[in-house]
Amino acid sequence: RTSETPAPLSASNIIFNRSTVERSVPQHGSPEQWAQNVCSDHMVTCRWTLSDGWEVPHIVPYGNLSISPAASCLNYATQCFEGMKAFRGFDGKLRLFRPDCNAKRLVMSAQRVCLPAFDDNELVELIKALLRIDAPRWLPKEAAGRFLYIRPCLVGTGDQLGVQTPREATLYIMMVPWPDFSKESPPGISPRDGLRLYASAEDTIRAWPGGFGFAKVGANYGTSFGAHGEAQHKGYDQVLWLFGPDHQITEAGASNFCAIVRNRDSGLTELITPPLAEKLILDGVTRRSILELARSRMAGELEVVERKFTMHELENAWEEGRIVETFVCGTAFFITPVLSINFNGRELDLPHGDADPGKRFTSLFGDWLRNIQLGVVDHQWAVEV
Ligand code: PMP
Repeated sequence: RTSETPAPLSASNIIFNRSTVERSVPQHGSPEQWAQNVCSDHMVTCRWTLSDGWEVPHIVPYGNLSISPAASCLNYATQCFEGMKAFRGFDGKLRLFRPDCNAKRLVMSAQRVCLPAFDDNELVELIKALLRIDAPRWLPKEAAGRFLYIRPCLVGTGDQLGVQTPREATLYIMMVPWPDFSKESPPGISPRDGLRLYASAEDTIRAWPGGFGFAKVGANYGTSFGAHGEAQHKGYDQVLWLFGPDHQITEAGASNFCAIVRNRDSGLTELITPPLAEKLILDGVTRRSILELARSRMAGELEVVERKFTMHELENAWEEGRIVETFVCGTAFFITPVLSINFNGRELDLPHGDADPGKRFTSLFGDWLRNIQLGVVDHQWAVEV
């Protein structure tokens, strides 16, 4: 090949190097599982170079990567990643949920940090190949209703300290059995039925126009740990990220934020969530799925509104008793109600919707998505492995 025709990413010729040892699978709900650091037996790795493009992908025993201390990702944060799940259905089948959305989002994130593009379908095929090897032990048929968390990463590697676009990169995919944060809590901690949010102080901003808040790059997360730690120290679960002098609501922790509010003028019930256009939030797959289903299944009953809305507006709706429910949504926390928000020292205790928990919007949306993910209903978003 010449530099004019760099090779595309392809999952059709994977080189397999099977592990000779079986790592021990943590028991569901155990402290080892809550530690979230036990990866499955294998991982995918694939190297890219500017001159030759993508090399043949490998599936190898899970283990450390060897990269230069001068690697671009270690010095200049050329790093992006994804977070998605594979579900074991009650029919024994293994399914991915809208993996094309995650794969396309990784390409988009890669572009933001000058990492190479690839065909998103090939990434999905690599994920399936890894699942076919490790799911039988790590998400067996007996684990029906549970999932494995999948973490594809793309990082700038190579040996170049110059401040420049990476000329080498490594794609790798690992899998971790995670607890279900939306339903379970660590051993010894009593389960909660929602999250308490702490609205971010003005000196900690997660995303800004022209920045990279819309991309799933590691640089967005490491820089948020301080504010998250402070919120936890004060007894809250997550930070509600605000932006601008008008305290625009953007996201909560690593989840999107939605509020169901009765409109004062029209009397309509609205699902309000910040828009993607301003590039201050991640285009969450869970958010997108809820909006699409609510638009098609609840037309006339629930108006979906993607627009800028501020903390003052939410506070005002709260004072007027117009808030029906608020929730966060994302792969890790799924759909979790928000119990309260602390804003400028004032604690807003938020309503949880219908007195019958089964009739709440959060329950309804949760059932819709779970039924697709677990194969209870047939839907094009569930991709069998
Ligand atoms: N916002 C941020 C900042 C996130 O990290 C995530 C998790 N990927 C989300 C929102 C939710 O996205 P998704 O529904 O695709 O998990």
